[in-house]
Amino acid sequence: MAMATTTSKQKIVHQLFTALGKHLKTKPLEARPVLEQFVYAILRENATRESADQAFASLQEHFFDWNEVRVSSTLEIVEALDGIVADAETRAQRIVDFLQEIFETTYSFDLEPLLEVLQKKGLKLASKQLARYQAANEYAVTWVIQQSLGGHAIPLDAAAIRALKRMGLAEESGDLESLRTSIEHQVPKAKGLQFVDLLSVLTDVHCHEDQPACSRCPLRQACPTGLESKHTVAATSKKPR
Ligand code: SF4
Repeated sequence: MAMATTTSKQKIVHQLFTALGKHLKTKPLEARPVLEQFVYAILRENATRESADQAFASLQEHFFDWNEVRVSSTLEIVEALDGIVADAETRAQRIVDFLQEIFETTYSFDLEPLLEVLQKKGLKLASKQLARYQAANEYAVTWVIQQSLGGHAIPLDAAAIRALKRMGLAEESGDLESLRTSIEHQVPKAKGLQFVDLLSVLTDVHCHEDQPACSRCPLRQACPTGLESKHTVAATSKKPR
C-alpha cells in the first residue's frame, strides 16, 4: 500500500477520531503503579482494552498478590487468562519473567523509587532503562512512558501497525521507531490514549488480519485499502456475465 500524502493522512486520522470515536468514548485509564502498568502492557498488546481489563482483573482475583503470581506455574496463570486474551501462555511467561527479575533486583514489587529516577532522566534515557528488562519490548516500554511518565508516546502493537499500513499511514518496510515518531507527530498528546483504544477497536471489529471487513468499516471512504476494495467490488459486479 502506497503511503498517503500528508493531507490524506490527516484526513484518515480525523476520520478515525470522528467516525469511529463517535461510538467509543474513551474513559481515562485506572491509575496504577509502574509495576502494574508494565504487567498491564503485557496483557494489552494485541488485545482490546476491554480484554486487557478483564485479564488484569482475573489475575487479581486468582492470585493473592504479585508474589503469588511470580511463584505460580505458568499453567495456573494461563488458566486465569485463558479465553480472555490470545497467546495466554506467552503473556503468562513474560509476566512471571518480569516479576522474577523485579524480585531478584529489588527484593520487592515496588518500582516507585525507580519511577522517581526515571522522571529525572528524561524520556529517552528512561526508555533505555525500561528496555533492559528481559520481558520488555517496544510496546511495554512505550506504554509505561505514556502512562507512568506522561510522555507523548503511542504504543503500537502488530495489529495497529497492520491497520496503519493498510490506511497508508505507515510504510510497508519502515522501522517501528520512525513509524511511532510519525504517528506521534500527527496525533496530539492529549488524544494518544484514545488513538490507541480506537485502533484496537478498529482491528478487533473491522481490520482483521485475514480479510479486512472494509465494506462495513467507518473509514472506508478515507482509507486507500477500503477505497481500493470498493473499486474492485464495483468492477467485478459490472463485468458482463
Ligand atoms: S477500510 Fe478496510 S483496510 Fe481500511 S481500516 Fe477499514 S477495514 Fe482496515
